[in-house]
Amino acid sequence: MNIKNNIVILGAGESGLGAAILAIKQGATVFVSDKSPIKTNYKNELQSLNIDFEEGVHSEEKILSADLIIKSPGIPDKAPLVVAAKEKGIPIISEIEYASRYTNAKIVAITGSNGKTTTTSLLYHICKKAGLNVGLGGNIGTSFARQVANNTFDLFVLEISSFQLDGCFDFCPNISILCNITEDHMDRYDYKIENYIKSKFRIAQKQTASDSFIYCADDEISQQWLPKMNLKAQIFPISSNQVFQENAAWKEAQNLIFNHNHNQFEMQVHELALTGMHNTYNSMAAGMAAKLLGVRKEIIRESLQDFKSLEHRMEFVSTIRGIDFMNDSKATNVNSTWFALESISKPIIWIAGGVDKGNDYTQLKELVKNKVKAIVCLGKDNEKIHHAFSEDVGYILDTDNAEEAVAMAYNLAEKGELVLLSPACASFDLFENYEDRGRQFKRAVMAL
Ligand code: ADP
Repeated sequence: MNIKNNIVILGAGESGLGAAILAIKQGATVFVSDKSPIKTNYKNELQSLNIDFEEGVHSEEKILSADLIIKSPGIPDKAPLVVAAKEKGIPIISEIEYASRYTNAKIVAITGSNGKTTTTSLLYHICKKAGLNVGLGGNIGTSFARQVANNTFDLFVLEISSFQLDGCFDFCPNISILCNITEDHMDRYDYKIENYIKSKFRIAQKQTASDSFIYCADDEISQQWLPKMNLKAQIFPISSNQVFQENAAWKEAQNLIFNHNHNQFEMQVHELALTGMHNTYNSMAAGMAAKLLGVRKEIIRESLQDFKSLEHRMEFVSTIRGIDFMNDSKATNVNSTWFALESISKPIIWIAGGVDKGNDYTQLKELVKNKVKAIVCLGKDNEKIHHAFSEDVGYILDTDNAEEAVAMAYNLAEKGELVLLSPACASFDLFENYEDRGRQFKRAVMAL
């Protein structure tokens, strides 16, 4: 392998720090550059490791003299510095691509528009229970590169975003999972869904016949694009409305069937810890991957039964005077909100809005008409929501903080109804991030 010695890392977040630590370990000269202020803990770490860095600025000349650039997924390809580096012919890769070059561990990589964190956490839980020497990383928690540098895992379960995949070229997971593809991040993909779709399929682009690719056969876009992608991996569909003979996971009546080369096990949908149709898919994907890893069926079944649900994803908060409150702050796009609305059978007071990433609300209209009594907007600019649903619900009200939104929703709700925070939008207009939004919502509910 051609070892690139002069490495520049753009972005000093968790992935940048991980890449820097790994690069130092490989004997490279490292320079970390972040246009924003660097968090104190990361700055301390850079200093203690004697890694050269800058913050609040990008020194172009120094950066453009690199042999290799490892770019944070948050920096768009269109940033002038990235364009200049590309024009100069400097290879620009993601931290995932870089770290994968320095480990022989098996890798399961999970992507999709929705369900990545849930599926990744489910699979990690199964692997831990099976006693495997496994690391959890990618978009979750500790970066992949940091773990490659500091640990000796036999297996990694990685959550991978499309932005990370855009910087992947030779990354070749043993098992890849594509949960689904629905419109998201259109602002980063020139408002062309085909660009986003191709980015998602990059997860399997280097896989060979000895690797496996798990995807949802009920997902229209994945199903439609799969034949065009010329994948070499062995393909394992999951489905809740098609029946297969082998090498798939599927649902027949209330039974889930996982089959690998006619070796099969079954469990009931009601046994799953996570409820809702979307979570049945996530459980099938994680269970199928575990089966391919050779985990015993008893362990898979038990793990899918005792998994604890994650914060901010259809998280039940409380019932106050007969009114339920649910926190689905992680729903930052239309499709995840669709599944939230779909899974609820009570009349809904829906708290929605924030930063719209090019949303098309028409897919929600039918559900909103049938299930939503009122909408409380929680965003700076709520024009699109008013426009989309003004004919479908009795009330659409504007708020710009969690407390007011909760109070308003509570006033509108009656006993037996449910207040749902499922914004279908990013949170950056009013909150630090989706976690902050979810926590402020929960605090406001508990203060009622
Ligand atoms: P991601 O990591 O891809 O953002 P999460 O597992 O964090 O996915 O879930 C994000 C949101 O999407 C939550 O609101 C959750 O309820 C919903 N969701 C989870 N799995 C799916 C799925 N398979 N399809 C659609 N929506 C999903």
